[in-house]
Amino acid sequence: MKKFKKVLAMLLAGAMVLGFAGCGSDEKETDSADKKVIVFGTNAEFPPFEYVTSKGTIGEFDGIDIAIAQKIAEDQGKEAKINNMEFDSLLLALDNGQVDAVIAGMTVTDERKQAYDFSTPYYTATQVMIVKGDSDIQKASDMKDKKIVVIQGYTGETCVQEMGYNYEAFKKGTEAIMELVNGKCDVVVIDSATAEKFVGDNEGLKIVEDPDAFEAEEYAIAVKKGNTELLNQINASVQKMLDDGTVSELSAKYLDVDTEEDASGSDAE
Ligand code: GLN
Repeated sequence: MKKFKKVLAMLLAGAMVLGFAGCGSDEKETDSADKKVIVFGTNAEFPPFEYVTSKGTIGEFDGIDIAIAQKIAEDQGKEAKINNMEFDSLLLALDNGQVDAVIAGMTVTDERKQAYDFSTPYYTATQVMIVKGDSDIQKASDMKDKKIVVIQGYTGETCVQEMGYNYEAFKKGTEAIMELVNGKCDVVVIDSATAEKFVGDNEGLKIVEDPDAFEAEEYAIAVKKGNTELLNQINASVQKMLDDGTVSELSAKYLDVDTEEDASGSDAE
């Protein structure tokens, strides 16, 4: 009997879905702003913004972005879910509806802005160079004849491309750092806060900055172009968190958290 009811419920649910799909042809597609869940896409390879840990803020995920995502959802009376995927796939996942929003330490660039809408920026960063402690690299142009490693699809790759230097691209920041630690490259170009984490977690590395060569970058949350309703909700919550100091508190907190076991897989103590 119970089983029969269950089957009936499933059939009914199925019919409802079909019904909606059937009459929705001239309506707007399901607006993610009306849903009770916000699915955030991220790439949990980017401490302190997103990384995997045993007990995270949302499931096994934690970091500044994950905490911000959780607070946005709470503020909007919704639930936040995380869909973890490769950085390169994140924006496409907005197109095919796999995720409602992307929060991934993502820099607002003109190119990305053409195809996606971005929230109010919540963090300012810049690209920096991570080198071995005894490296003679002091400015970006010193990378000219060096072995440069970047992470695929990151703004750091674009920067090095525009400088016209050869480089190798890796999928993960941790892989790039291992190349440097193992002496297989001379420099890794990556976002500043993440660089601090990696340098803190691995001995013998240092950060070299060159503000003349690397511009300031702003991180923001991306939504599908035209999804103004969700964007407005996100913006309202982000603004609140910027105004009341929540974003600064979270940034300070996670910059201090030891993400070593989770992020780098290194054996440095
Ligand atoms: N800020 C860089 C970018 O937007 C890297 C982001 C990331 O790896 N999560 O490309």
